[in-house]
Amino acid sequence: KALQVAIDGPASAGKSTVAKLVAQQFKYIYCDTGAMYRAITLAALQEKVALTDDKAVTKIAQNTTITFKPGDPVQQVFIGTQEVTQAIREPQITNNVSTVAAIEAVRTEMVEQQRVIASRGGIVMDGRDIGTTVLPDAQVKIFLVASAHERAVRRYRENIKKGINTPLSRLQEEIEIRDKKDSTRAISPLKQADDAVLLDTTSLSIDEVVKKISTIIMK
Ligand code: C5P
Repeated sequence: KALQVAIDGPASAGKSTVAKLVAQQFKYIYCDTGAMYRAITLAALQEKVALTDDKAVTKIAQNTTITFKPGDPVQQVFIGTQEVTQAIREPQITNNVSTVAAIEAVRTEMVEQQRVIASRGGIVMDGRDIGTTVLPDAQVKIFLVASAHERAVRRYRENIKKGINTPLSRLQEEIEIRDKKDSTRAISPLKQADDAVLLDTTSLSIDEVVKKISTIIMK
């Protein structure tokens, strides 16, 4: 059977790491919807459009072709033919993406594209509004959370591996600012779907989280 698995939650809760592993296990498609909002943000910055100019950013969202290319350890992200996998993870994108993601017409366009991707078969999709808005009929809905401190620590360790040394306190602050923006916006705010399973990963390993989700899928 080919199910729809929606994984939502706040920033840096481990959604994409876990979603990717679950997708591999069940041979489902993996779709990182955050990468799509990030790609639009990057495209807008490259075209020197003000991110507060809703109309101009919407135009970019409608005219940008975002594609994913499966790969290990990360799937590659493209804007047209431009490979942007690393570029969309830069702090400038991370700290501006919530502004772009709050634009209603941008979301309309992204949600449409996400549903097309999901129509291709079994899917694991991660984001903020998958269980509530993009795939409201998903058979499996997970809301992944962890304490803000734990999420900042995880981000800090990832950064250190990449040679980036941003203070832990600043990372936690950035995470909290982004969560606040994402959960207070007017359109499809970050929110646990009524029928989603809440999973607190603060003291769980990646393996344990993947196992818990797999068990739910196999039920
Ligand atoms: O998942 P990730 O942290 O990469 O997402 C980046 C940003 O994209 C989020 O902070 C949020 O503003 C936006 N987003 C969203 N809806 C989604 C996925 C991401 O608004 N489904």
